[in-house]
Amino acid sequence: MTHPSRIFSGIKPTGHLTLGNYLGALRRWAREDQYAAESLFCVVDLHALTVEHDPARVRRLSRQAAGLLLAAGLDPEVCTVFVQSHVDEHARLSYLLECVASDGEMRRMIQYKEKSARAQRGGQGVRLSLLTYPVLMAADILAYRATEVPVGEDQAQHVELTRDLAVRFNQRYGHVFAVPKATLPAVAARVMDLQDPATKMGKSHDATAGIVYLLDEPEAVARKVRRAVTDSEPGVSYDREARPGVANLLEILATCTGKEPEVLAASYEGIGALKADTAEAVVELLRPVRERHAEISADPSYVDGVLRAGAARARELARPTVDAAYAAIGLLPPA
Ligand code: ATP
Ligand code: MG
Repeated sequence: MTHPSRIFSGIKPTGHLTLGNYLGALRRWAREDQYAAESLFCVVDLHALTVEHDPARVRRLSRQAAGLLLAAGLDPEVCTVFVQSHVDEHARLSYLLECVASDGEMRRMIQYKEKSARAQRGGQGVRLSLLTYPVLMAADILAYRATEVPVGEDQAQHVELTRDLAVRFNQRYGHVFAVPKATLPAVAARVMDLQDPATKMGKSHDATAGIVYLLDEPEAVARKVRRAVTDSEPGVSYDREARPGVANLLEILATCTGKEPEVLAASYEGIGALKADTAEAVVELLRPVRERHAEISADPSYVDGVLRAGAARARELARPTVDAAYAAIGLLPPA
C-alpha cells in the first residue's frame, strides 16, 4: 500500500521559542513544507511535561507557541495547526508503540542521556516520561502516516527510532504505518548557543546571553549576536570543528542571505564586520515574525479558533490509523 506524502512536525512548549527553532524548523514549515503536501504542525504539550514544569507556564507557552507558528507564516487555510493534548490518538497510540519498543533502545537516546543528566544536576528526579517520550513522538508522527518530518539535526535520532518502530510494527502485525524520514535544513540544522558554541541553542536551557528568542527586542537580538563568543584566530574561515563560534555565525548569516557559509567566509576580513552584518540580518529576519505575533496575540479567540479546527481535522486523520493499529495488534474491537 502506498500513501500520498504527508508532513508532520511539532514544537514543545518548554520555553520561549528560539532562533534555533526558527531556522531548524518553523521557517521551513512556513516557506516550503505547508505547500508541499498535506501537513500538520503541532504544539506538543505532553512532551513539555517530561521535565520539571509549572502548569500555568506550560499553558501560557502553548498558546504563545501556537501564535508564533501562525506569526511565522503557517496558514491555517493551507495546513493543520493544533495542540497535541487536544487529540487523544497520540497518547492512545503511544501505549501500543511502548509494546513494540525496547527498554534498551530508549536508554540509548542521546537526548535522554543529556536531559536526564541535566535534571539530576538540577537536583530534580528524572521523570519516567523523559525516557518514554521518543515513543510518544513516534506516535505523533505515525498516527498521521506522515512520510516526512522536517526537524533540526538534534531530532534526527528520534525520527530514526520512529522508522524502526514503524517497520517493526508493520512486520509483526501487518502494514499499518507509513515509514517516515527526517528532512533537515541544508544549513543551520543545529544552531549553537552564541555564548557556548559547543552547546545547541535550546529553549529550555537557562536563559543566557547566548540564546536569541523570537520575541526578543531588536536591540537585545543585535547585542546577543554582536557579543557572540568566537575565538582568537585572525580573519574569518568556515570550519565547524576548529572554529565553532565563527561557523555558527556564518551559518546563521547564510540562512538569512541565501549564500553559502564558505562564500560568506571569503567575503569578510574580520569578525567584527561579520558580527555586525549577522546582527542586522537576524534583526530583520525576526522583525516581521515579532510584529505579526503582536497582532495575532491581540485576539486570543482567533488562535483558539484555529486550534479548535486544527484538532478536529487532526482527529479525523489520526483516528482510522490508530484504530487499525489497535485491531492489528490483537485488541478486540468494541462491539
Ligand atoms: P528543548 O530545550 O525543550 O528541547 P528545543 O529548543 O530543543 O527545546 P524542541 O521543541 O525540542 O526545541 O524542538 C522543536 C524543533 O526545533 C525541532 O525540529 C528541533 O530539531 C528544532 N531545533 C531545536 N533547537 C534547534 C537548534 N538549536 N538548531 C536547529 N534546530 C533546532
Ligand atoms: Mg529539543
